[in-house]
Amino acid sequence: MHCTKCPRLAAFLEENRQKFPDFFNAPVASFGDEDPSLLIVGLAPGLKGANQTGRPFTKDFAGHLLYGTLLKFGWATGKYEERADDSLCLIKSRITNAVKCVPPQNKVTGEEINTCNAYLASEISSFPHLKVILSLGVVSHKAVLKALHLKQKDYPFKHGHFVLIKEKNLYLIDSYHCSRYNTSTKVLTKEMFEDVFLKIKSVL
Ligand code: SF4
Repeated sequence: MHCTKCPRLAAFLEENRQKFPDFFNAPVASFGDEDPSLLIVGLAPGLKGANQTGRPFTKDFAGHLLYGTLLKFGWATGKYEERADDSLCLIKSRITNAVKCVPPQNKVTGEEINTCNAYLASEISSFPHLKVILSLGVVSHKAVLKALHLKQKDYPFKHGHFVLIKEKNLYLIDSYHCSRYNTSTKVLTKEMFEDVFLKIKSVL
């Protein structure tokens, strides 16, 4: 995937190509089943995680909980070994990010979210059997609403909350992001995260 539509992010990637020549250092494409029923939407690649490996959540702290949970609930097979060429394979699930390029200090701007939203919208519309979109965190939640042309005020973010978008035949569910900060502060526990996946199972 090649894109330089966001000048700040393109410049940051260029800077990192000099600093970390062995890193992936490019927009990170989605990963998983080509015909998913579940799409998980994160925020953006981490500098030394997905931006290093080229696969969403891979080598990011959040990847341990996310991939561990997917493996536990049968959404993945193989072994997660923090590298893009491990044996991990997603089943009926796919992972993407609201913003495909690593941002400085892990912070994206509203403009970058909007610019990258066309990619997210195109991904969502390309999966004919998609039934559930899981948004990890508020930013991802808002990006998903935007991609689906839904009004933000009608769908506030709420952890564990499910909503059926009848006209699109899609369930949306939110979770706090499985980031190091959220898990270390217990905003999100392993049990809370697993409960979200149990809910997803119940509608699929
Ligand atoms: S964040 Fe998205 S729109 Fe912006 S440069 Fe990267 S791929 Fe392109």
